[in-house]
Amino acid sequence: MGLAQIIYPRPAESGFQEWAWDHYQHHLAIIQQASVKGFSLNQYRIWPVTQENIQDFLDQHQQMHSEMDEIANVQGANLQDIDFKDKKKVDAWYWLNYVEHQSVASFLGGGI
Ligand SMILES: [Zn+2]
Repeated sequence: MGLAQIIYPRPAESGFQEWAWDHYQHHLAIIQQASVKGFSLNQYRIWPVTQENIQDFLDQHQQMHSEMDEIANVQGANLQDIDFKDKKKVDAWYWLNYVEHQSVASFLGGGI
């Protein structure tokens, strides 16, 4: 799985679910690589993502980012509040999420 896969979902009906899975996998890779480096990160429920649990996803995902940003000394964005009806904000959300994944991955090394 490449980091590039979690930038934006593919513009297909299954795009979001593919993204959600790949993004979840990258969080697991971060947790794994963090433990190799001697850091302990908690795992929260960020998959599956459904219409019904989207707020839980946003809350738990924010927690994961706060914890991983802290060990990597990354200035994190607010990824918790998002208006899914505003395409510009949604695109910005994906991008900011990706940038944090990229920063933390480069801090941790290990090719994740
Ligand atoms: Zn994330």
